[in-house]
Amino acid sequence: MYLYNSLTRSKDEFKTHTPGRVEMYTCGPTVYHYAHIGNLRSYIMEDVLEKYLGYIGYDVDRVMNITDVGHLTSDGDTGDDKMLKGAKREHKTVMEIAKFYTDAFFEDCKKLNIKKPETVVPATSYIDEFIRVISSLMEKGYAYEAGGNIYFDTSKLEKYYVFNDFSEEDLAVGVREGVEADGNKRNKTDFVLWFTKSKFEDQELKWDSPWGVGYPGWHIECSCISMKNNGEYLDLHCGGIDNAFPHHTNEIAQSESYLGHPWCGHWFHVHHLNTQGGKMSKSKGEFLTVSLLEEKGYNPLAYRFFCLQSHYRKGLMFSWENLDNAAAAYNKLAAKISQTENSGGHDESKCDELRNGFKSAMDNDLNTSLAITSLYDVLKSGLSGADKLMLIKEFDGVLSLGLIEAAEKLKNAAPEGSELPEEITDLLEQRKAARKEKNFALADEIRDKISALGYTVEETRQGTVVKRRQ
Ligand code: AMP
Ligand code: ZN
Repeated sequence: MYLYNSLTRSKDEFKTHTPGRVEMYTCGPTVYHYAHIGNLRSYIMEDVLEKYLGYIGYDVDRVMNITDVGHLTSDGDTGDDKMLKGAKREHKTVMEIAKFYTDAFFEDCKKLNIKKPETVVPATSYIDEFIRVISSLMEKGYAYEAGGNIYFDTSKLEKYYVFNDFSEEDLAVGVREGVEADGNKRNKTDFVLWFTKSKFEDQELKWDSPWGVGYPGWHIECSCISMKNNGEYLDLHCGGIDNAFPHHTNEIAQSESYLGHPWCGHWFHVHHLNTQGGKMSKSKGEFLTVSLLEEKGYNPLAYRFFCLQSHYRKGLMFSWENLDNAAAAYNKLAAKISQTENSGGHDESKCDELRNGFKSAMDNDLNTSLAITSLYDVLKSGLSGADKLMLIKEFDGVLSLGLIEAAEKLKNAAPEGSELPEEITDLLEQRKAARKEKNFALADEIRDKISALGYTVEETRQGTVVKRRQ
């Protein structure tokens, strides 16, 4: 498989340290709020990558952290701890907030068919490990104490900026928000490993350390959680592109200084989900969640389909119109599959030909949109219905669009409007038009009218289902 590597700035053949095994690490969510559908774009693409590596025969060991301490409102070292901000907003403790949003994150993942990694580690459970690695960095001369905090000394590195193929705009994201300079730093690029004095006043979670009571910086968590669970050699590190700098750059600095050898061979970065106002972000206040999509009647898997229709290395523009188009294409595809009879003979060589089409798309830097066209190729092929369904199930083991299940449900559900009185079908048409115009208040009003006439209207993954109340 060829996969773009941010470290070498080229599509490299994917290789692992131990043949047949992938040590994979993914930066997890900062659990101070719901994940937005932009964050989830990254997790969807990482999920497809993990499943594809499994499909081509690798044994994948995937680790993820949960950031429940240390991530400040700026990705530099300024601002408040995001967790504290969330706790204040909701008048709860940091740990209550962390539990609530961690559970919510995995619920969203489930709805999007994103597999939970085997190993998930909350940062607060690894404090001793952070202290151990920071102590070692101090001993080796890579870290220093100033103004009560412990900093990583970037001047000790031969090369600090490892990822420099990003636009200034992307590089600036992490530091733009932080305007106040930290006078303790010896070099502008130095970063905090352990906070004691600064940002300390109302920090709720703090731990004892050789440098005083405090809490860890954000970057050290990923280095330590990965090194402890994936081992000294990491094959694949994933995250959104905004994490490339400073977060991943700092992870490399710490891990390689601690280990004394190169750490991770392949860096996979997913580009942003954007709206008219730019990158979708939690700090901007209004953002879209999976629950909101569901409230508006969208199947979460139609959003997954929308993401897979474009390449992970391109920014993706979100609009309701774009999502509507993806949802319509998804439903059409499911309908086509539902019309396929599970019968007929088997043609292995033709199946292999179609498999090769799917694989060559995915082998070429995870080209998921081309891989989706392989599904249409299967349906258009001269294969038997049984072979077609077998291949769709196989490819969907990687794409995880729930297509077979959607098709099954479609077979069993009564089609919209069948055997309904004209009065109801008229109202359904009006409601459809209102929803299309995003006039959800009017759509709800019409639904109430339909309900008053003795019918229930339900939005399901397969579309609108109308039934006469018993
Ligand atoms: P956070 O919860 O802020 O730590 O972010 C979780 C993951 O989502 C990280 O890998 C981010 O790089 C990624 N991310 C944040 N915003 C976006 C976006 N608009 N589009 C895609 N990925 C994003
Ligand atoms: Zn990370």
